[in-house]
Amino acid sequence: MVDSWHAETYRRFPVVFERGKGAYLYDSSGRVYLDFLSGISVTILGHCDDEVNEAIIRQVENLLHVSNLFYIPSQAALLEELGETLPWKGRVFLTNSGAESIEGALKLVRRYASLTGNGSKKIITFRGGFHGRTYGSLTATAQEKYHEGFEPMLPGFVYVDPEDGEGFERALEGGAAAVLFETIQGEGGVRPLSDEFLSFVCRRAREAGALVVCDDIQAGLGRTGRFYSFEERGIVPDVITLAKGLANGLPLGAFIARDEVFRVLGPGTHGSTFGGNPVSCAAASVVVRRVRDEVFLSRVREVGEYLRNKLEGVRGKSQRIVEVRGRGLMWGIVLDVPGKEVVNRCLERGLIVNCTEEKVIRLLPPLIVTEEQVDEAVSILEDVIGGLNV
Ligand SMILES: *Cc1c(COP(=O)(O)O)cnc(C)c1O
Repeated sequence: MVDSWHAETYRRFPVVFERGKGAYLYDSSGRVYLDFLSGISVTILGHCDDEVNEAIIRQVENLLHVSNLFYIPSQAALLEELGETLPWKGRVFLTNSGAESIEGALKLVRRYASLTGNGSKKIITFRGGFHGRTYGSLTATAQEKYHEGFEPMLPGFVYVDPEDGEGFERALEGGAAAVLFETIQGEGGVRPLSDEFLSFVCRRAREAGALVVCDDIQAGLGRTGRFYSFEERGIVPDVITLAKGLANGLPLGAFIARDEVFRVLGPGTHGSTFGGNPVSCAAASVVVRRVRDEVFLSRVREVGEYLRNKLEGVRGKSQRIVEVRGRGLMWGIVLDVPGKEVVNRCLERGLIVNCTEEKVIRLLPPLIVTEEQVDEAVSILEDVIGGLNV
């Protein structure tokens, strides 16, 4: 494939996908691939879902764009659906991406701190987390490798190691506007924060007058078997960010907060030309309605448990695997060698996975994946990992 004008910010695989359906992708030579990455948890209902596509086509035939200065029926329909999933009555600002959702959330918590008299503008995040590539979201991403050469970062951020309670206490000294975390650090190697640490962080943040922001861009939307990943962790954040799978492949994100918090963003304080565009919203209505269904979510938990058992089985047989970790349908296979070769060999065998943090093979299948497809994927992974001659 000739692509000599494209920025070289992505190291690309030598394959061109032309078509997708459900959990499968087809390349330009007609080869089929089982997709256990889903565009990094984007195509959560599978590729080219019929109902999503019909909703998109219907919207495209009526209206592609209208300014956010006007009411937008497909936005309102989506938010009626999304509102039902929230742990409190709140407000939603629709964006085009994860980074924009984080930017919005950062602006919101700082303004809340300004207007409510909690003087501190400090934002606490955790090392190993990932929140995006724009300056605010990049500063929130407490990983050197993403900052290198781009300094100076935004002022007012403090980083703490996950599970370091004392470090968090120190960070809270003098107050803070907010703490921001992923319940499972996705880009950071599929690392779940513990239930104990998450509840400690939320409790201490509240006591210190700081808002709790959960970045559920990767782990949310049914990925862990609950609509929001924090639901099974015994915590309730004040602010939630979403993106990735929200419109099953069209760009859409959101930052969401309790009414009492969101009211600090009045008319004119924030905006987006494309955020919440009618077509993405039409797709997202289908996604949210389907994913929040309890039958759908219990099926994710069931297949997730099946996948977990299979992976534990493979771990028992392979010396290359240090650990398997994750929840629901979000798993990391931690190797004691770089994972790049595993990813390449899986691709040759018709399985799409990726690697984060050098040594972690990450699995993010579509939420509609079946036990048979899990069998297929795990048997390829087992072969490939077993065949590593180190
Ligand atoms: C992907 C991701 C982001 C950034 O989303 P973009 O749409 O790529 O800007 C932010 N937070 C988390 C947890 C993510 O996984």
